[in-house]
Amino acid sequence: MLRIGHGFDVHAFAEGRRLVLGGVDVPCERGLAGHSDADVLAHALMDAVLGAMRAGDIGGLFPDTDPAYEGADSLVLMRRVAELARERGYRILDVDCTVAAQAPKLAPHRDQMRANMAAALGVPVDAVGVKATTTERLGFVGREEGIAAWAVALLDDGR
Ligand code: MG
Repeated sequence: MLRIGHGFDVHAFAEGRRLVLGGVDVPCERGLAGHSDADVLAHALMDAVLGAMRAGDIGGLFPDTDPAYEGADSLVLMRRVAELARERGYRILDVDCTVAAQAPKLAPHRDQMRANMAAALGVPVDAVGVKATTTERLGFVGREEGIAAWAVALLDDGR
């Protein structure tokens, strides 16, 4: 049977941080605040996969109260999510993501984000979609206060 999952995440901009999106260090004068590397795109995608597995969310799996995840590389966590899916008999078939950021321009980094997350999930690159949009200067994204990401994941539950 096919299972669908959805994920959503937001992180606020912060001075003196790297901007990591889909495992890519995006050149930017600011990064995102967070306990881990604050990779908002990877977080949304992990939640989509966990959602399809009905396995809770990354907050439950990798609590931000646990010092083990301080500064954590979110793609390492994504590998663990993919392992968990395989252990439970799921196959990740297809995922798609949207990142909303007013700045910086993300299109030049899209293919590297796809490649990084495909490798972490153990799926072909063409099974991972990444799209970027601005919000036409509207809302918290438009005011450049933070970045939001959404993702969907389609999994075969092996039953
Ligand atoms: Mg997050």
